Amino acid sequence: MTSLPIAVIVGEGEAQRTFYVSEDALLRNSGYFLAACKGQWRGGNDGQSIPLPDDDPAAFEAFARFAYHGYIFPVISAVTTSYIASDNQPGRDAFCNEVDFLASCWILGDKLLATEFKDAALDALVDPLNKACRVPAGVHGRVYTSTAGPNGLRRLLVDVAVYKWPNDILLEDRAGQRYWELFRNVAARYKELGGTVIEGNGPIYDGGCWYHDHGDGECYRSKTRTREV
Ligand SMILES: [Zn+2]
Repeated sequence: MTSLPIAVIVGEGEAQRTFYVSEDALLRNSGYFLAACKGQWRGGNDGQSIPLPDDDPAAFEAFARFAYHGYIFPVISAVTTSYIASDNQPGRDAFCNEVDFLASCWILGDKLLATEFKDAALDALVDPLNKACRVPAGVHGRVYTSTAGPNGLRRLLVDVAVYKWPNDILLEDRAGQRYWELFRNVAARYKELGGTVIEGNGPIYDGGCWYHDHGDGECYRSKTRTREV
């Protein structure tokens, strides 16, 4: 099925970009656009554009690609892979940028009510977080201020702390409300796991749906998509 493209204007100022995405792809992938296309939120003079001034154009590009193809294009670079194998500064910077980008994708998906995109972004995050045993410091703050819990991304960050962090990282001095909330969640998770031996990766790397937010709905992994023309 084909439909007319809708212009989605993302970001502000010099960073602003306009994406033309078919209405069908937007509506299939996002409850936000479903509501927007009912008319009342639509902006612009022609009635065919939707502004998203507060969002990240790069994350939206990943969403638009996902809407057509059903997967997130790989972003984990060779330099990050080198960092995961052996700590080095360029690799650490790349790792932080890439994890931050995937977290941005998840946060955008949360706003757009795009569960499948969120779950795919989360799956893309699992591998580097698991292998590197750490989460860049800025990610916790963004996740705990930009999302409402409980949700899949918070569960993943908590399990990385519970299963992967050594005690010296847990005991690091961390100021701010965001860490207070994180460690409340970590304490609750330890309680939940009480009586079991906390070792290995837990559910982090088992390929299940523990961190997905689709509930009883169908997992995006079970769907196949074809490129639209
Ligand atoms: Zn799933």
